[in-house]
Amino acid sequence: MILNKNNESKIINGKNYSKDFLIHVSNLAFKFENLLNRKPCLAVILIGDDNASKVYVKNKILTAKDTNIKSIEILLSNNTSEINLLNEINKLNNDDRIDGILVQLPLPDHIQVKKVVNSISPKKDVDGFHPQNFGNLILGNETVVPCTPLGCWYMLKKELNDLTGYHAVVIGRSNIVGKPMQSLLIKENCTVTVAHSKTRGLAEISNKADILIAAIGRPEFITSEFINSNSVIIDVGINRVNKKLVGDVRFQDGLKIAKKITPVPGGVGPMTIACLMYNTVKLAYRRNNQMFNEILL
Ligand code: NAD
Repeated sequence: MILNKNNESKIINGKNYSKDFLIHVSNLAFKFENLLNRKPCLAVILIGDDNASKVYVKNKILTAKDTNIKSIEILLSNNTSEINLLNEINKLNNDDRIDGILVQLPLPDHIQVKKVVNSISPKKDVDGFHPQNFGNLILGNETVVPCTPLGCWYMLKKELNDLTGYHAVVIGRSNIVGKPMQSLLIKENCTVTVAHSKTRGLAEISNKADILIAAIGRPEFITSEFINSNSVIIDVGINRVNKKLVGDVRFQDGLKIAKKITPVPGGVGPMTIACLMYNTVKLAYRRNNQMFNEILL
């Protein structure tokens, strides 16, 4: 689709939002270094040689460097045992120089995600997946919020400011995106519908959304009949089709019909990494008993 002034203004530019946000986060990281004479430190564990995971980890490490965050990469082979991984996490939990621990998902089949998530200290849980942090999110307490939903929330607040009363439809109920997204939107006084693979009449429900969050993992699944002209669409999906990245929303349909839409790539992805940096710095301040006044929500 050819971009013109009319439809270009409908694009929510996650890349630009993330750049601005990262400047702020890196200032906080410099302030931390001045206070404690060391940079905030993120440890990233990568298991196996999945190409997509390697790219994600590389981007995280590069962004950390640009944000004045130190990073440590731990590479484990695909046949690493669960106990070996848990031991590595335990070492990082007890290492005072490490502020945040991230285990890149997905994991090989012989390792239980739940065990791994539960083993990371809630104080170093940059992904916000630990039950303690997740529970606080559901209760509406201040906590570490999972990076992708936090990035979606950030862009929605920038675009719409007050979300009160909006009908938000979240498609997808994963622990990583759908469920935490629901909690954030409830906190913002939205009326939230969570849809999933067993939902009946999905197009009709989706078509009533003021805010539509697509986190399905199916390329261009959301087409014109799911979209209304008032909707603001956040497309979380990242799908590889013929070596190209596409979202869960057919972008040209969203651009034509909706009020606003995030592109893939260049929408949720860059904001997710920026929020990972924010969570690392936030945990660094907290663990070291430094005042952190930069609470987003
Ligand atoms: P998931 O597979 O854990 O969950 C997918 C959800 O979609 C499930 O709850 C399922 O019920 C629902 N679903 C599946 N088919 C459906 C259908 N036909 N109709 C309605 N609902 C359906 O996936 P996830 O981890 O939540 O990720 C979703 C997508 O977001 C993926 O494409 C993933 O790559 C992407 N993602 C992107 C980022 C980012 O930084 N941009 C971060 C995380 C995930």
